[in-house]
Amino acid sequence: MPSTVQESMAANHSFWQHKYGNYQAEPTLPAGDYSADIVIVGGGFTGLTTAREYCRENSNARVMLLEAREIGFGASGRNGGFNMTLFGLEPEVTELFWGKDRTQKAQQYMKKAVNFVRDLVEREQLDSDYEHTGMWRLAYSTAQEKRLQKTYQLLCELMGKEDYQYLNHEAVQKRLNAPNVRAAIVEPGTGIFDPCKHVRELKRLALESGADVYENTAVTELNRHSDHIQIKTANASIRADKVVLAVNAWGHAFDAEKNLRNKQRPIWTYQIVTEPLTEKEWKDIRWEGRMSIEDNRNLVHYTRITKCGRITLGGGRVNSDFGTKMDQWHCEKSWQQLEKHLHWLFPTLKNKAIHYKWGGAVSVNLNMTPEISYLGDERIIQASGCMGHGVSLTQLNGRLITDLLQNKQSELSEFWIVNRRAIPMPPGNLLSYLGGNVISQTLNAMDWWQERELEKP
Ligand SMILES: Cc1cc2nc3c(=O)[nH]c(=O)nc-3n(C[C@H](O)[C@H](O)[C@H](O)COP(=O)(O)OP(=O)(O)OC[C@H]3O[C@@H](n4cnc5c(N)ncnc54)[C@H](O)[C@@H]3O)c2cc1C
Repeated sequence: MPSTVQESMAANHSFWQHKYGNYQAEPTLPAGDYSADIVIVGGGFTGLTTAREYCRENSNARVMLLEAREIGFGASGRNGGFNMTLFGLEPEVTELFWGKDRTQKAQQYMKKAVNFVRDLVEREQLDSDYEHTGMWRLAYSTAQEKRLQKTYQLLCELMGKEDYQYLNHEAVQKRLNAPNVRAAIVEPGTGIFDPCKHVRELKRLALESGADVYENTAVTELNRHSDHIQIKTANASIRADKVVLAVNAWGHAFDAEKNLRNKQRPIWTYQIVTEPLTEKEWKDIRWEGRMSIEDNRNLVHYTRITKCGRITLGGGRVNSDFGTKMDQWHCEKSWQQLEKHLHWLFPTLKNKAIHYKWGGAVSVNLNMTPEISYLGDERIIQASGCMGHGVSLTQLNGRLITDLLQNKQSELSEFWIVNRRAIPMPPGNLLSYLGGNVISQTLNAMDWWQERELEKP
């Protein structure tokens, strides 16, 4: 287990994984032949929630969850920890692709998702460092402020005014010493947690409900037969009735199932965390209410306070991945830009040292919309395309997938992202890579244009 910052960063661990310290992984699946009702591939929020929910409703079922690394190695153990209602990229983008009615249903789903997570933490007393502190959405420039006002109007129209407030520059400054912020949308009904502690608490719940969890066990092959599906790892073979592919940004690299390859591509995003702030620094910066903060750039920045008294900030410049290597964990250029942005946003912190840096992959598709779908036939279900906003979404998705596995018609299983019309990613590595680059460069250029009046954001 890496213990120093350098060792943890070299092992591509997030700050949360590093801070977690000693972790007891479940054993690798031993060599042999097995049979199961359900096999779940991927041990993040999606896979673990599905495992637990299915076992709770089917106490005699054999559910096996296989994770290639340790629980929390994927996005679930390395995100900002925002339990938030943003669906896809932006409500305006969802409206453009899918219309007002579906955008409203998506927002309702996300509100339910945030409450699903909060209720779970409270009911099961999860050690996730959860705080229901609300979230602010910021604008820095005139163009961004105009967009923020439109977003506010749209959200109020879709969900009602009571869920949001709008703050002008003066009102913002009273609670946050961030002179470059022009306006903010406040959404009180959201929260933050430590994602690594949370995902490992989800593992505990899955085990307690009767699921078998195997770590450091990658699935290498999947074969459909008329009466079962065969899943293979390096040494073992499982005969299963149904399979859930909860591999998120690894979908294009999942050789075992060709139908998954064109669903999504990974986009790499980065995060930094400061040294703990002094009492004086907290006083200077104010940050009343410990709310989480995201801006409304196209390549968003997000920032929040950690339980241990630091500030973490992520987002901004992204990377795309050529082929299936999944190896863009480090990016000095992105980390430097994040540090610069932190100092620009909070000038009183301009000398604050950065303690830890990391990166991770989010699952992006051409509709910029999450998707849950059957692959080939109803025995295999996949979830992808969280667009970097999947903390609450993927956990409620786990509940939804449980309904699909049981052929249960419910409000959740009727959600329109299930088997929605999807635009496939372009075939071949080169085209997808170029496509990813074109999208991120376009978003970057739009941000530059909308921020040209600002001094070095
Ligand atoms: C830096 C960062 C910040 C983010 N911040 C936020 C945020 O603040 N709020 C928010 O809403 N969302 C955020 N997100 C997105 C959110 O973290 C994800 O949407 C969510 O965690 C996805 O969960 P998951 O279970 O679907 O996938 P993951 O947690 O990625 O799990 C997939 C797992 O599948 C495993 N796997 C892959 N291939 C195989 C195989 N062949 N065999 C077995 N296992 C395999 C992987 O090892 C991985 O652990 C962020 C993401 C990143 C990277």
